[in-house]
Amino acid sequence: MAVLEEPIKEVTLLKNFINGEWVESKGEVEDVVNPATQKILAKVPMSTRDEVNAAIKAAKEAFPDWRKTTPLARARCLFRLKELLEEHFEELSRVQTMEHGKTIDESRGETRRGIEMVEVATGIPSLMMGYNLEDIASGIDEYVIYQPMGVFCHIAPFNFPFMVPLWFFPFALATGNTFVVKPSPRDPITQVKLAELVDEADFPPGVYNIVHGGADTASILLEHPDIKGVTFVGSTQIGKGVYKKCGEIGRRAIIQTSAKNFMVVMPDTNIEATIPALMTSFFGNTGQRCLSGANLVIVGKDNAFYNKVLNAFVDTASKIRVGYGLDESIQMGPMQSIDGKQRVTRYIEKGLEEGAKLTLDGRKPKIIGDYPDTCFLNPTVFEGVAPDMTIGKEEIFGPVANVMRAENLDEAIRMANSSNFGNAAAIFTSSGRTAREFQYRIEVGNVGINIGIVAPMAFFPFSGMKDSFYGVLHGQGRDAIRFFTESKVVIQRWF
Ligand code: NAD
Repeated sequence: MAVLEEPIKEVTLLKNFINGEWVESKGEVEDVVNPATQKILAKVPMSTRDEVNAAIKAAKEAFPDWRKTTPLARARCLFRLKELLEEHFEELSRVQTMEHGKTIDESRGETRRGIEMVEVATGIPSLMMGYNLEDIASGIDEYVIYQPMGVFCHIAPFNFPFMVPLWFFPFALATGNTFVVKPSPRDPITQVKLAELVDEADFPPGVYNIVHGGADTASILLEHPDIKGVTFVGSTQIGKGVYKKCGEIGRRAIIQTSAKNFMVVMPDTNIEATIPALMTSFFGNTGQRCLSGANLVIVGKDNAFYNKVLNAFVDTASKIRVGYGLDESIQMGPMQSIDGKQRVTRYIEKGLEEGAKLTLDGRKPKIIGDYPDTCFLNPTVFEGVAPDMTIGKEEIFGPVANVMRAENLDEAIRMANSSNFGNAAAIFTSSGRTAREFQYRIEVGNVGINIGIVAPMAFFPFSGMKDSFYGVLHGQGRDAIRFFTESKVVIQRWF
């Protein structure tokens, strides 16, 4: 099939968006590269301290007026943004594919999910209401109001360059706060396109700002005294440090981090319906999802059942069409970076060293179309993996599935709960009782029953436990509304 038209035609130097103006940075620049074609798409600056400070200053100065803007008027800005996002739906999706590598369908799914965050945040007049009770004592009433706090920031990962910042900033803006986003330097172009639409939606200057950069830029943001709260999504290694820093400075934080997700297949499952769900869970986004399946646990002593599931899984995985995501027939794109591919390759070598059986080896990729193999891998499957092997317990973040066996549900749950991570898990079964027991005992934030692992909708929290999450409240929905507001309690006596 033909490759869709590419919306990025020339290499540009990406600018920061500060106080309603597009400003050129004085920082050093890095290349943003299309991982499928290896063409340079843009230059991204590492913003200086002065530039980050300017963005925070603009957000701080915009706060008093924005907070006084009525919730309905704030919602109207979000409605305009939603309309603009719909108008640019296809362009935004294609840019994601160009800079990240995911298939165009995956990008369209991401764009849809991102827009849903804006749609949910437009409900702010109801979502932000407090509560009250009269006569808590004779002639005395008490009520709670939720108030915005000031400037919040977001430090974004590379794997969902459009959607992840949208887990936070629409809710922050809707509640009357102002915001600074730092996209991942690996794929920041989608966020620039999004910022252009925020600009067009006529939010007042300074309400929303974007500064580019890497670790240094993030540290300047984190440590600035005018930041009231931090939202971070990325690796546990870095997220833990960010959480510690937030604790030291005394500011609230949502820190969503790495994962190692178990998918449990019970002997009573419908295999035909299960395999497609397993494919998207393990190989969707080339395995670069915090909700990706990592360890596939096939339950029961019956070898025939084990072989049937394994063979169907390996056979379907081996037929996945790998190539440039702008070709609509492609089912899996490249890894987002050479570093990512090298990391996955090292894990495959480690798995072999530790004695796992490499049933499907994706290291010499078959690619549809004439593209350099720099970032490509094919789906890979290991058998005979134990939860305490390196590949069984560390996040690989690539298209690698580890197949394990458990005698019964109890053993499968124990295996999954032995993980340090607690982001997500899934079960496939036709028994309601088994599903209920799994949901009750499994120590993760997001559970899938007969569906694989799918992202929670915008009106539910994006949860996580153990080393996959630090904080109390989560991104999205009511949790985000609470995170971005302070509750004030008023006690009033009538005389
Ligand atoms: P990363 O930790 O390398 O980077 C995340 C962000 O932190 C980037 O913007 C980066 O520039 C910034 N950063 C780098 N060094 C920093 C430092 N010292 N201090 C502060 N910020 C710093 O993560 P990544 O590779 O971009 O993203 C992949 C990871 O994100 C995976 O582990 C994945 O599981 C996780 N993730 C988790 C969720 C979730 O909801 N739990 C969602 C998406 C991704």
